[in-house]
Amino acid sequence: MDSVETTSAIVPTYARANVAFDRGEGCWLISTGGERYLDFGAGIAVTSVGHAHPHMVEALTRQGSKVWHISNLYQNPEGERFARRLADATFADLVFFTNSGAEANEAAIKMARRRQWIGGHPERYRVLTFEGAFHGRTLATIAAGGQKKYLEGFGPKVEGFDQIPLGDLEAVEAAIGPETAAILIEPIQGEGGVRMVAAAFLRGLREICDRRELLLIFDEVQTGVGRTGRFFAYEHAGVHPDILTSAKGIGGGFPMSACLATADAARGLTVGVHGTTFGGSPLAMAVGNATLDIVLAPGFLERVAELGLLFRQRLAELKDRHPGLIEEVRGEGLMVGLKLRIPPGDFAAAALREKLLLIPAGDNVVRILPPLVVSEAEIAEGIRRLDAACAAVEERLAVAVN
Ligand SMILES: *Cc1c(COP(=O)(O)O)cnc(C)c1O
Repeated sequence: MDSVETTSAIVPTYARANVAFDRGEGCWLISTGGERYLDFGAGIAVTSVGHAHPHMVEALTRQGSKVWHISNLYQNPEGERFARRLADATFADLVFFTNSGAEANEAAIKMARRRQWIGGHPERYRVLTFEGAFHGRTLATIAAGGQKKYLEGFGPKVEGFDQIPLGDLEAVEAAIGPETAAILIEPIQGEGGVRMVAAAFLRGLREICDRRELLLIFDEVQTGVGRTGRFFAYEHAGVHPDILTSAKGIGGGFPMSACLATADAARGLTVGVHGTTFGGSPLAMAVGNATLDIVLAPGFLERVAELGLLFRQRLAELKDRHPGLIEEVRGEGLMVGLKLRIPPGDFAAAALREKLLLIPAGDNVVRILPPLVVSEAEIAEGIRRLDAACAAVEERLAVAVN
């Protein structure tokens, strides 16, 4: 493995692996030392169409030589086109563009509260969220996520978030009070460990929100834009939210995000009420449109669903070969989790030694999130490397026991 300079001027909030990458092609990253790594993490579900996709490079360089940024004070044809395409492909009527997942969630929370306010319910501002959730790292979104490890030391938790167990509709009903404005949920928990949410539970939330006049917000920052084999994961459950956030894969690696909504849900966001300097820049919008060209091409999502199924079958066989290590295979499409009997960071490190990139998550899970353009041959290669990583870990465990 390449050795990289360790004295760093970057704030040390990440325990970085000791490898640096110089360039990428499709599902592969090439290290500064010239070694090829199979990228089954996709930069945490971000490089959805692989590295240096010719269509993405063309869109970026073409727009890059025209204009990058104009602010939101002027018309933006590329952004209009992108918003229209997102609306046409989903439940949504309107889109607010932002720059990160957390920022899209902030927009969603503000939109929901403002909708209640403008609808004559200024007292409704609280948002129900679920245990194990992750919604970002801003002050409000760490309060929404409710995880102690992200809240600790950052002062009083932002007011207005109530957390309940995942999957319990009675607990949801019981937690709703006169101040509740909305319910916020990931259709599959990502950082929480690819924890699946039953379709019946999502349908139950829809029914509760309709009956009690609450807004249903789906955080599809990780599950969106084809990751699960549908454009957005809510399609699997057959229910639509009032508001949805998308980020990670939407720009194929370019930082951008979006908050999608029905016209009714967005009613409160009128001129001057919310804003962003960077959100929806022509450069971001051109790249976003290029992502959609690929992901919404006929047959693309069906292929993701098929490959996901194939991959999970191969992983089930892997689990049978390594039952002492792998407890469960779960996921949808190309969002896959392996629940392990060892710490996921240790397993990801073992995979890295096999030149395979994976992403640790909560609940003792390692996430496998290949670019959506992955081939069958690359999946087979990934399985080979996973097998080798399992064998290496088992050998190390056997040595430790003896
Ligand atoms: C990654 C993630 C976020 C936060 O996105 P950032 O771009 O890091 O702010 C929010 N919600 C979910 C479900 C995520 O996976």
